[in-house]
Amino acid sequence: MDVIFILIIGSIIGSFLNVCICRIPRNESIAYPPSHCTNCGMRIKWYDLLPVVSFINLRGRCRNCESKISIRYPLIEILTGAIFVSLYIKYGFTIDFFKYVLLSVFLIVISFIDLDTTNVYLKTTLPGIVIGVVFVIIEYLNGNSPTQFIYGAIILWGVLAIIALTTHSMGWGDAEICLMCGIFLGTKLSIVMLILSFVLGGIVGGMLVLFKIKSRKDMIPFGPFIGVAAIITMLFGSNIVNWYISYLIL
Ligand SMILES: [Zn+2]
Repeated sequence: MDVIFILIIGSIIGSFLNVCICRIPRNESIAYPPSHCTNCGMRIKWYDLLPVVSFINLRGRCRNCESKISIRYPLIEILTGAIFVSLYIKYGFTIDFFKYVLLSVFLIVISFIDLDTTNVYLKTTLPGIVIGVVFVIIEYLNGNSPTQFIYGAIILWGVLAIIALTTHSMGWGDAEICLMCGIFLGTKLSIVMLILSFVLGGIVGGMLVLFKIKSRKDMIPFGPFIGVAAIITMLFGSNIVNWYISYLIL
């Protein structure tokens, strides 16, 4: 029952994230005007805004002008719902659940905007960083040391800043995303995330060049790799750390 409820809430939030991904790069408000068809401008009725269901019901076309609606909309709704459910199965209704749900929301928006535009917007990373700091304060008020989150942020931002300064293969936007993730994840998980993002970026980037989809000179946005790595880390990072420690002891 809980799982279905969270899946529905997640996909509704996912449908709002679609709006953010579409409008933030165009410098439009994410609250006004209400959802409208990007082709004919027709305002979309509430019954055509149901996540996933409406897309299937409309067979992926606008009710008014019949222009095609991107399959990406329902996919992002399903993705958001699936991430929320996975986090719930891992953490239950705990502070960590809400914390990681919020981090995923920011990562989904930032990653897809980066894919579309190769830009990272401060108005997406800064609110994430502020919310991360709020959770650090909550940890502190609960009697936990906040230092690991500060170290996490410094390590991730520092590594990306050095890369941005020396190689220019990554930008300051990537450093901002990493700073945000570091505050949420703390030292150990930040390191897991960093390694995963480089491995993923290396494999996928290498394949894109190998299959000549991208040339060596093309800019491949790194934000989505950070996003995927951070979500894997939220779900399996502690298992990876424990496995590694037991491996060291043996
Ligand atoms: Zn239309």
